[in-house]
Order: sequence, then C-alpha cells, then structure tokens
Amino acid sequence: MSVQETIAQNLDDIRARIASAAEHAGRKSEDITLIAVSKLNPAESVEAAISHDQLEFGENWVKELLEKEVSVEEYLKENSPETAGKVKWHFIGHLQTNKVKQLIGKTVLIHSVDSFKLASVIDTESKKKGVVTDILLEINIGDEESKYGIKPDEAVCFADSLRDFSNIRIRGLMTVAPICDDPESNRPYFKKMRELFVDIKSKNNDNISMDVLSMGMTLDFEAAIEEGATHVRVGTGIFGARDYGNRS
Ligand SMILES: *Cc1c(COP(=O)(O)O)cnc(C)c1O
Repeated sequence: MSVQETIAQNLDDIRARIASAAEHAGRKSEDITLIAVSKLNPAESVEAAISHDQLEFGENWVKELLEKEVSVEEYLKENSPETAGKVKWHFIGHLQTNKVKQLIGKTVLIHSVDSFKLASVIDTESKKKGVVTDILLEINIGDEESKYGIKPDEAVCFADSLRDFSNIRIRGLMTVAPICDDPESNRPYFKKMRELFVDIKSKNNDNISMDVLSMGMTLDFEAAIEEGATHVRVGTGIFGARDYGNRS
C-alpha cells in the first residue's frame, strides 16, 4: 500500500472510531473535531490527508508549522485551488515567548498557554497585528513533574488572572494525559478536565468563551470523547510512528 493509501485508510478508521465513541456517549460525531497531528511528517503526508478531506492539523514547533503551511499552500494553489486557504493549523507544542510573534495570525488555535508571561506576550503581539488570538489553557492534569501545564488546582485563578488581556480569547482547555498502555486509566483525568472546564466556563470574564476541550490522543481518544472532548489530537494513528531523530 502507498503512503497515501495508508493515510486514507487510517483516517477512515479513526473517523469510524470517533463516531462510535460519540454514539456510545450519546453525542454527535459532528461535535468532535479531529486534529491530525502532523509533526515530524512531511508536507506530502499532510497533502495526502487533505485529499482525504482532513483540513485541521496540529504542529509542535513554530518553524516546522510555518514551513509546512507554506509548502502545503503552494501545493494546493497548484493542484487543488478550491482547497487553498482552507487548511487550519493548530499549535499544540510548548511555545517559547520569543517565537510568539511569528505565530500570530498563522494558527486557528494555540492549545498550549501555560504561563502568565506567555499569555501576555500573545496578547501584546495580537494587539500589534490588530487580531484577537484564540487560546486554550494547558493543564497538567496528572500533576506530573515532567509535563508543562498549569496545575489543576490553580487553573481557575489562572484563567481569572488573564481577564485584562483583550486580544486573547480563552476558548477552553487542553491536556496531555499521563501516557500509559491502558486507555481506561486516563479516564479519571479526562473527567477532572471536564469539571475544570465547567468551573472556568461559569466565570463571565469578557475574554472567556469556553467551547473547546482538547484532550485524547492515539491511545486514549475514545475515552476522552466519552468524557466530553470536543477536539482530539491524533498523530501516530493517522501518520504512523514518528522519527524523532535528535528531537524529543
Ligand atoms: C504528538 C502529540 C499528539 C499526538 O500524539 P499521538 O500519540 O501520536 O496521537 C497530541 N498532542 C500533543 C500535544 C502532541 O505533542
């Protein structure tokens, strides 16, 4: 099977599993957005996914996102002009403040806001460009030392501390749950995310408009959907194993 065929088949498989998890939870599959995590995969793989109707992608590094966006758009203008400009890029990796400027206006959603400083830089750079940037707060739901993210018991206060930033809009929460082989073991974390989501949603600060709960990856997206995820981020399940080379 060619790479293109494999990606198409994997997408069909993941979509069917999303639909059945949604049905199981009494939800509509249209209410769940699949983000294809294309990090470390070439633009050609993204193009294969696009030709199979996948238009939302997730990337972890600013440079890689910007370069891929340019090559994919060039390809689409040439080969599929009706799709050009329609691809949405999500930034899901750890974001350094000195990279923010390049990213503003290039992503539909920044999933990984985990500090006051980062939120403040996103706000400032957005103001300069005259845009409002949609963000998610990244929560370290397992309270793991190795992970980025806000501690769960500080999340509500943190959201509140951003209330004066008028060029960001807090659209929801994101987490990378502790990785384990048993998808069920992350379920309690997903439940806890949902509770935090509801708590923050009840704040009526002007820049809070909660409608996104980004959780669940290749190994655990079904449990995440059953617990209320609106966005799942699936990489390996679509593109196969990644070659990290000297990155980690
Ligand atoms: C890489 C990555 C994913 C995708 O992980 P898979 O296990 O390959 O599905 C999702 N979210 C984040 C934040 C990632 O860094």
